[in-house]
Amino acid sequence: MSTQLSPWPAACQGAIALTFDDGVPSQLNIAIPMLDNYGLQATFYVNPHDNYQEQLIPWRAAALTGHEIGNHTVSHPCSKNFAFISDAGRRGLEEMSLDDIEQEIIEAGRRISEVIPEQGSTSYGYTCYQPFVGRGPTRQSYVPVVAKHCVAGRGRGERPNDPRYCDLWYLWSTPCERMAGAELVGLAEQAIAQGRWAIFTFHGVNDGHLHVAEGDLTELCAHLARNRERIWTAPVATIAKQVGSFQAQMVG
Ligand SMILES: [Zn+2]
Repeated sequence: MSTQLSPWPAACQGAIALTFDDGVPSQLNIAIPMLDNYGLQATFYVNPHDNYQEQLIPWRAAALTGHEIGNHTVSHPCSKNFAFISDAGRRGLEEMSLDDIEQEIIEAGRRISEVIPEQGSTSYGYTCYQPFVGRGPTRQSYVPVVAKHCVAGRGRGERPNDPRYCDLWYLWSTPCERMAGAELVGLAEQAIAQGRWAIFTFHGVNDGHLHVAEGDLTELCAHLARNRERIWTAPVATIAKQVGSFQAQMVG
């Protein structure tokens, strides 16, 4: 049996996943038409609320053109250290158990697959990049819960992912709010030069929280599209499946 030297298709030297969190309206209005225009597919981590059957309709349309609509919990819990959690009197991750977070993940996944049954299993986007419940002596990682229910998990880290060693259920990504186009292109090229998989995390485009400017995102998308022969751009779940097979073959 021949051994695969990399998990990337054909002549590609590395991979890029573009991820967009929280279902910000500018993602539907600006990012998805832009990606479609360049023939690129991305991952969108949404929180399916009580009106999810209506809320997810436009996301279903995106999924049917190849984008991944991923799990980001129902209620977006984060550390109580964030004012948007504590000031609103919301329950923080410090006050949750592994069962609590598992219910969030199961229910969000159930709602997404009810409306978008075509896409199959998806990846998970850690809310606020945080993979824990509890605090101090009772703090626990919930990465094993994500590994049980999702094909991969996107967290946060300082480097692109090494396909040989990365933990598929806590992948590193780079927060990209307010980055210039040249910086985004540079980060992508740096990862490709190293044969790695970079994941970029976006929120709003032009407006919404933690936004990136449309012109800067366009510069990145144009570059990825122009260089698709050597840069593999795909949703997190798609790349994770390839990296998973590659890692299994290394072990075997
Ligand atoms: Zn989020």
